[in-house]
Amino acid sequence: MPDVLARTPARALTRPVQVGPVQVGGGAPVSVQSMCTTDTADVPATLAQIGRLAEAGCEIVRVAVPTAAALDGFAEVCAASPLPVVADIHFDHALAIGACRRGASALRVNPGNIGSWERVDAVIDEAGAAGVPIRIGVNAGSLDPAFAEREDLTHVEKLVGSATSFVEHFRARGFADIVLSAKAHGVVTTVEVNRALSRELPDVPLHIGVTEAGTLRQGTVKNAAAIGALLMEGIGDTVRLSLTADPVEEVNVAWDLLSAVGLRRLRPELVSCPTCGRCQWDLMGVAAEVERRLAAVRAPITVAVMGCVVNGPGEARGADIGLAGGRGKAVLFAGGEKIRTVDEADAVDELFAEIERRFV
Ligand code: SF4
Repeated sequence: MPDVLARTPARALTRPVQVGPVQVGGGAPVSVQSMCTTDTADVPATLAQIGRLAEAGCEIVRVAVPTAAALDGFAEVCAASPLPVVADIHFDHALAIGACRRGASALRVNPGNIGSWERVDAVIDEAGAAGVPIRIGVNAGSLDPAFAEREDLTHVEKLVGSATSFVEHFRARGFADIVLSAKAHGVVTTVEVNRALSRELPDVPLHIGVTEAGTLRQGTVKNAAAIGALLMEGIGDTVRLSLTADPVEEVNVAWDLLSAVGLRRLRPELVSCPTCGRCQWDLMGVAAEVERRLAAVRAPITVAVMGCVVNGPGEARGADIGLAGGRGKAVLFAGGEKIRTVDEADAVDELFAEIERRFV
């Protein structure tokens, strides 16, 4: 798919880690990932959801492997998935080893909840032999016990200390294909933790996101604030915007965020004015209709819909194409210049005909 911006992060290069065909870190574009909400043992449902995620632009998908029974489904999903599949493992190291042997492109393991270093080491050795990278996850529930109970440390320090000690342990065992995530549900904690990790472990690719961020509206705001701030500082190699919503929404919001911070753009960006007393047409209705129809357009263009012909085209001068409404009419413009005047009733159809002609 086209990706016009594809700007790589400004921070020092991290070590490249290969998750199937997708490179994470090492100067690769920040990748978009999400997680299935289906029962992994239900292979048709899981593959159907992965198909929808891939269509939306997801590049890496994670699925839960909570039981031995899920491993057979996991193997089938890996074999048929159009995206590299990450096995999400908690508590049971045998499941991580099983996932390695069944086609996982990567593991996500929180060493702090696996039970013992011996078990973690068994996973490290299996993954190392199979060439499977591991995302080391750290959150409030999976801190290194050496840090968890210390009252002299802040929560940020516990997360950073745990993550750092886990990475050191993996490296000491000869395993370097590491992506690191340290997650919290607060924006400030998320930003502080990842800033510290990028300083302490500058070569380790970071998977960033706000965990348990909430439903679509609140979760989007929290993720945009935290991930947006980090990405604009050049921190973060892959993103997952967790939302209590259809995971396709996670992918949509992730792409909108990457586009908003100027890192990557896959789809059109809609510019629309807030309207004011000069607005003489149903801009909110028009903007909603344009947004709905733009969902099917894959060209990375900027489309504007503006409330008035007096200021609209000028205010949206940077747009590739747009509409500015008037009394029963609308001006179709491109690059801030008028192309022609159309009837208001035909305006959206005319806009999309012009988009089709020029950009698709
Ligand atoms: S484009 Fe026109 S209607 Fe929209 S905010 Fe500006 S002046 Fe108001």
